Amino acid sequence: MKLSQQEWLDIFKGVYEEEIGFDMPMSEHTWLSIGGPADVFLMPQDPLSIRNLMVVLKNEGVPFFTLGGGTNILVRDGGIEGVVISLKNFRRMEVLKEGDESAELFIEAGVSLQKYVNFCKERGYSGAEGLIGIPGTVGGAICGNAGSFGCEMKDSVLSVAIMDSSGRLDRFKAEGLGFGYRRSDIKGTDIVLSANVRLTRQEKEAVTRRTGKFFSEKKASQPISDRSAGCVFKNPQNTSAGRLIDEAGYKGMRVGGIEVSTLHANFFINRGGGTASEYLALMERVSAGVREKFGIVLEPEIKVVGRG
Ligand SMILES: Cc1cc2nc3c(=O)[nH]c(=O)nc-3n(C[C@H](O)[C@H](O)[C@H](O)COP(=O)(O)OP(=O)(O)OC[C@H]3O[C@@H](n4cnc5c(N)ncnc54)[C@H](O)[C@@H]3O)c2cc1C
Repeated sequence: MKLSQQEWLDIFKGVYEEEIGFDMPMSEHTWLSIGGPADVFLMPQDPLSIRNLMVVLKNEGVPFFTLGGGTNILVRDGGIEGVVISLKNFRRMEVLKEGDESAELFIEAGVSLQKYVNFCKERGYSGAEGLIGIPGTVGGAICGNAGSFGCEMKDSVLSVAIMDSSGRLDRFKAEGLGFGYRRSDIKGTDIVLSANVRLTRQEKEAVTRRTGKFFSEKKASQPISDRSAGCVFKNPQNTSAGRLIDEAGYKGMRVGGIEVSTLHANFFINRGGGTASEYLALMERVSAGVREKFGIVLEPEIKVVGRG
């Protein structure tokens, strides 16, 4: 049942005093520019504010969704029931230790991944070069173990501070978080608040050169300035989803405003006015075609969220 604004205000009274967005179009918060309205949209300022929210949302039985940069999600046209919690205000990044061989950093979840990569580049910290050009936040990159060019987010993570849905905050060692290819064991009801990472110290010029080389390769092979959600499907073992989609003949195929990129077939682009239903219809068509031609079932990499 949809609550009125007054009912929401009553729930948050004395618990959450910051700005509350109602019926927030998620198309304004996703890289794809797609997504219906979230009932409530919040941008808490600190961990205490999130803890208070967790307690009240649990008591009231209200579902919530944690948003990073919105670069790997497809929000359905019906929007999101309950509360969207954006981590955009969690932007602190600082050097904890710097030795001759390595450096340790504390990074909050809402720091943009590109800000982190560029910070490392400027200081000669190696270990994040391959993440250049991946949009979104550090929190999102940790949850999905984002990676490219043989470099994954998990490679530099030492520990992660996570708040669970009862408001309990714990710090977990990276080894216990089940990181794998584009996955981790971090649950949908857990909120990543920050991470400690360790990088290797190298000549600044060498780190800059590698970062620049990867960025040139990424720009040449992926439509990074178009509206997409990154790779639609995970790569099956020993092959690339993009190659399979290309060889099945789907490059340039369109459903409404959504198009299979002609540059990289595993990216679907919103050419303007596209909807989540169109995106899902194109996913269905492409995966059915690949299954028929190659007998391979493609597994989605993007997270599809929201009401149908
Ligand atoms: C042009 C383009 C290129 C891309 N290239 C790559 C690439 O090379 N490699 C790659 O791996 N990915 C790539 N991506 C996908 C995407 O950028 C990454 O997966 C990114 O790490 C997602 O981060 P985000 O902050 O945008 O997460 P979101 O899209 O906001 O969220 C993704 C998931 O993580 C959860 N989440 C986000 N933040 C938190 C948090 N703080 N706590 C708990 N849960 C959270 C969300 O609930 C959701 O389930 C690309 C995307 C685009 C658009």
